[in-house]
Amino acid sequence: MAGLAENYHGFLREIRQVAEAANRDPEGVRLLAVSKTFPKEDIAELYQGGCRDFGENRIPELQEKKSALPEDIRWHFIGQLQSNKVRKVVLLADVIHAVDTPALVERLDRICGEEGKTPAFLLEVNVSGEASKSGCTPDALPELAAAAFRCQYARFQGLMTMAPADAPEVVLHQVFGTLRQLRDRLAEEYRQKLPILSMGMSGDWQIAVQEGATVLRIGSALFGRRVYA
Ligand SMILES: *Cc1c(COP(=O)(O)O)cnc(C)c1O
Repeated sequence: MAGLAENYHGFLREIRQVAEAANRDPEGVRLLAVSKTFPKEDIAELYQGGCRDFGENRIPELQEKKSALPEDIRWHFIGQLQSNKVRKVVLLADVIHAVDTPALVERLDRICGEEGKTPAFLLEVNVSGEASKSGCTPDALPELAAAAFRCQYARFQGLMTMAPADAPEVVLHQVFGTLRQLRDRLAEEYRQKLPILSMGMSGDWQIAVQEGATVLRIGSALFGRRVYA
């Protein structure tokens, strides 16, 4: 099997090709290596290959990996943010991907102030409306975004979504395209840049790139199949 770093560089080339075919600047599409469940050694290998952005969804695992790995890694917390875990996440993560209620936004900003941290954060939108998914509904987004724009410490940078698994391509285009439109409308209304659209995973990233993704969250396609304990 090819080494992980080689895999990573091959993936970067593929992203570049898909971005160019979609008439996008390839520099505007970043790869976030979703390292949850994979060992520190794998992360170290990708780090050697030049990767600096890694995504985790459990606090103890993030804590352990962060303390053992180089300091210039940017850690993304991609799990559901729970109210009683906000402080831990603030102390560990550089980017927080899935904030989904006004109360959480306010708590996040207050704790960032107390801890002297200014992480970037994204609002998670449940575009597809699947009951099993977290994230706010598109209807609830205006109120949530209003809270996000009021933050003084946490930096509101954009939106995140997860598409339904195994959905047909038309549905994926619709979900990702809707997230982009929601972002564009907010950016226009508030006259603010909301540069990040975190969308696209191993199975659907090409369509996400076509619809404007700026951060692809890629796990299994980079590291191999995940085995949960
Ligand atoms: C696990 C996970 C991913 C990566 O999934 P793959 O299909 O392995 O690429 C992306 N985003 C979130 C929120 C995840 O939890």
